[in-house]
Formats: sequence, C-alpha cells, structure tokens
Amino acid sequence: MTNKSTRTGLFGGSFDPVHLAHLSLAQCALQQLQLDRLLWLPAGRPWQKLAQKGGRGLASPEHRRAMVALMVQGEPRFVVDDSELERDGASYTIDTVRARLAAHPGEQLFLVIGQDQYERLHTWRDWRELLRLVTVAVAARADQEIQASAEVQEYLQGLPSGAAQTVQRLAMPLTRVSSTQVREMAARAEDIRPLVGEAVAGYIAQHRLYQD
Ligand code: ATP
Repeated sequence: MTNKSTRTGLFGGSFDPVHLAHLSLAQCALQQLQLDRLLWLPAGRPWQKLAQKGGRGLASPEHRRAMVALMVQGEPRFVVDDSELERDGASYTIDTVRARLAAHPGEQLFLVIGQDQYERLHTWRDWRELLRLVTVAVAARADQEIQASAEVQEYLQGLPSGAAQTVQRLAMPLTRVSSTQVREMAARAEDIRPLVGEAVAGYIAQHRLYQD
C-alpha cells in the first residue's frame, strides 16, 4: 500500500474582515491542489499590514477568528487554526511552517496567497527557506499578471532542479473585493452582504465593527 502524504494548505491573512474572495480562493485551492485540508490562519499581528497602515488598529483577534469560523462552516476540510493568533509578537509564515512540519513530519504544505503577497515574498522573513519547504500557490488579483519579484525569480532560477518546490498558479475568477473595501462600506452603513455573505455581515452589524 502506498503511503500518500497528507496535502495541507496554509491560508494566512489578517481577515479584517474575511470576505467572499477569500472563500473563493480557498475553495479553488482545495480543488486544484487536491488538498486534504486547508488551514485558515488569522494573523495575530500582521507586521506588514501594521507597517502599511501606520499601526491602524485591527478588529480584535476574537472577532476576526469568529468571522472566519462563520465563513468556513459547512466545509469539513476547512480548519480554523489559531497558531498565529496565539503567538506572541508578529506573525511570520516561516515560524508557522517550521512548527507545522515539526508536528506533522512528511506533510506536504501548500502556501496559498494572492498576487499582492507574492510580489512581496522577498521581504518575508527567511523567504528562501520558505520556498524550499512549501509549494506556493498564487491567485491573481484584479488584472495583474502573476509575477515574482526579481529577487525571487533569480533565486528560483539559481536552484538545482528538484531543490525547490514549485510555484503554481491558481485559476480563479478575478474579483476586486478587499477587506479595505468592506470596512469602508461598513463605515458608510452600506450593504456588505454581497461581499461577505449573510453570516459575516450579521456578525459585523451585531458587534458594530468598522463603524467609525
Ligand atoms: P486589506 O484590504 O485589509 O489589505 P485583503 O482583502 O488583502 O485585506 P487579507 O486578509 O490581507 O485581505 O488577505 C489574505 C490573503 O487573501 C492574501 O494572500 C491576499 O492576497 C488574498 N486575497 C485577498 N483578497 C483577494 C482577492 N480579491 N483575490 C485574490 N486573492 C485575494
């Protein structure tokens, strides 16, 4: 009997809030990568977002986690994983990957990200090691071409064949939805149900998130 290794997707984000493009990306990843499970990893303190937004306060970890849990219900292969939420200090993907492989040796890991994150991969902590440990699965955002930064391209080309996991493109319908747009619409009391679905919209209304 062959011992087929488990294929696990890692899908991190600030999910502030989670929206339907996240769900669509996760569903495409499940199917196209033939994953056994996909871990949704809400970030504790997403260092890049904090830097970009001048330290703008995120919705609390509890709220962001609760909204992800609402979004993923009904798909047993989706798992909400608290390991980044619980970690002290900033969230670094490499720490999550190392911890996951230590706890589940032999598991095959797929890092699921959008193009905007892929372009910045060379700024992530220990990105070269990351590229050796996981397959990166990238989805386009808006009309952008999927392209690695020059640093990442050069690194991948310089590796002997077989040394790196591959980078794969995920086919998914383009959608311009972003959490920023959802927050802005919620602040203007507009109907966000088409962007986040009934359950998450209900949660945001009930807890008066993103009102100011
Ligand atoms: P914000 O607007 O606050 O920057 P966001 O919408 O980019 O947030 P994140 O939680 O940062 O949401 O995204 C998590 C992951 O999902 C990232 O890898 C991001 O590239 C990807 N992603 C988010 N929205 C889309 C989309 N519309 N199409 C493809 N990928 C997306």
